[in-house]
Amino acid sequence: MNRIILITITALTLVLSNCKQKEANDESQAEKELSRAEIIENKLKKAYPNFIEKIENNHLIWTDSSTMVFDDMVSNKSFDSLLNYPDIEDQFHFIYPMDSDYLSVLSLNYDPGRIRNDAFLKKMYGSTEEEVKKNLVEIIWLPNSDSTKLQVTTINEVHTKLQNISNELETLPEELKKYVLKPAGTFKWRVISGTNRLSAHSFGIAIDINVNYSHYWKWDVDTNKKFKYQNKIPLQIVNIFEKHGFIWGGKWYHYDTMHFEYRPELIN
Ligand SMILES: [Zn+2]
Repeated sequence: MNRIILITITALTLVLSNCKQKEANDESQAEKELSRAEIIENKLKKAYPNFIEKIENNHLIWTDSSTMVFDDMVSNKSFDSLLNYPDIEDQFHFIYPMDSDYLSVLSLNYDPGRIRNDAFLKKMYGSTEEEVKKNLVEIIWLPNSDSTKLQVTTINEVHTKLQNISNELETLPEELKKYVLKPAGTFKWRVISGTNRLSAHSFGIAIDINVNYSHYWKWDVDTNKKFKYQNKIPLQIVNIFEKHGFIWGGKWYHYDTMHFEYRPELIN
């Protein structure tokens, strides 16, 4: 009798685990079948639920019903074209590496997050300096150890996220905290030096931490226009920013290790 029960239980367990296996297979199959537009739509909706409705007929539909072309259908863009004329889709051209071995993917020009569609960011955060300023508030950076006042946008709750980052950084031991004391700044309506492209700082979504421990590719360019990756910022600090939706400029071939910006669509 006991044997029959045992055999029945074993058989049932096998059937159930097969069902689970089939479900998992079906799910991964469904994932595979998602188009690139659908994958990006999911990322954008998750990152910006108040703004993004859907992607349909090659257009990004905003919650206020306005639309933007999703893919301009220009294929094989050069790196310069990606930087200067990106569509919405191009912002996802490089995958932002989440693992600690990010250096292994930093091949020539691999700059995940440096491809920014200005129209996309202007739509959310403001299209002029005055418009962006209307949404800025002041936060106190590391109130117990630094107290620098920083201007950050309230759009997408970026100010709350940066304050939460500050709270976490404040609990770090001194040898780690030194990297984030005396931050170099947040909001500044400006183009990136040597270009016509707006910096992420223009939208109140970026912060530069302590310059004294930072590296920037432009500071290291030699007479042959070559530069070699350098970084001192510990990954414990990077992880805290990433947890709250901020990407790090240290994960770019054109590294800027003081720079963090709110781009949750590249992290989720
Ligand atoms: Zn910066």
